[in-house]
Amino acid sequence: MDEKVTCELCDGNVRLDDALFDEQAELYFCDLGCFEEWADENFDEIVKQYRQLHLYHAG
Ligand SMILES: [Zn+2]
Repeated sequence: MDEKVTCELCDGNVRLDDALFDEQAELYFCDLGCFEEWADENFDEIVKQYRQLHLYHAG
């Protein structure tokens, strides 16, 4: 089967087998280029999520 998904950045249709999936945001991307551009535009949100997941007081 040739299932298609939609790239979050460029709205392009991409085969599921070729797409990248962001399991945190649950979004699909064509390739790393689209992901990186999306990440640039959503930097604040990504930092917030990273902080909630990975940052703790050391003491
Ligand atoms: Zn794309």
